[in-house]
Amino acid sequence: MVIPLMGIKICAQEPDYMDMRKTMVKYQLEGRDIYDVRVLNAMLQVPRHSFVSKDKRMYAYSDFPISIGHKQTISQPYMVAYMTQALRLGKKDKVLEIGTGSGYQAAVLGKLVDSVYTIEIVEPLGMQARKVLRQLDYTNIVVKIGDGYHGWKAYAPYDAIMVTAGAEEVPKPLLEQLKDGGRMVIPLGPHGGIRELVLLRKKKGKITSKNLMQVRFVPFTRN
Ligand code: SAH
Repeated sequence: MVIPLMGIKICAQEPDYMDMRKTMVKYQLEGRDIYDVRVLNAMLQVPRHSFVSKDKRMYAYSDFPISIGHKQTISQPYMVAYMTQALRLGKKDKVLEIGTGSGYQAAVLGKLVDSVYTIEIVEPLGMQARKVLRQLDYTNIVVKIGDGYHGWKAYAPYDAIMVTAGAEEVPKPLLEQLKDGGRMVIPLGPHGGIRELVLLRKKKGKITSKNLMQVRFVPFTRN
């Protein structure tokens, strides 16, 4: 509906989020180095605006992270896509995410794999993410509130693990809960500084690592 107001037209309609998503995928992802069609499709489908507060929806598809309260952020779309692509996920994979935050990254993972287990240390964030994911009918994602340092033994081992908070070192339990042949992405480095996004692989019990890029992330905290 368009309301004429003293010569100014105010558009009272909801923005076209699908259109905004298409633009985001085209310029921020394909325009950079995201080529995995499954990842691009998942990012085209998940309504990112549903994972931020109403007053921030207009920025939901912008090329930067957004505050979600409690000093935490939903990562920049490109970072979500990049980390997801790095895990080379198969449809049957079981994935563990540490740092649910808004639940957006979990939703993207949920479009790509069989099951997603995600842990959030800040209770209100975990509760809100659980609520949004339920409203959007993601039935293959389970949110746990707690310290992700310990992983989630009940469902281990995992084909892939994604840590979305910056850690000083790789939590040992996460390495143990990674399947042989499994992959993990984790931002590593000192608190307060720039960290290295690292891809770890487990093969015949041995861990190899590759530095992917320099990143900034909110810190991995402990209870
Ligand atoms: N993946 C999120 C963004 C993550 S921001 C999204 O898509 O929105 C990082 C999140 O990690 C924050 O919500 C923070 O509270 C959480 N976090 C930090 N340390 C943690 C820990 N030890 N265990 C679980 N979650 C943790």
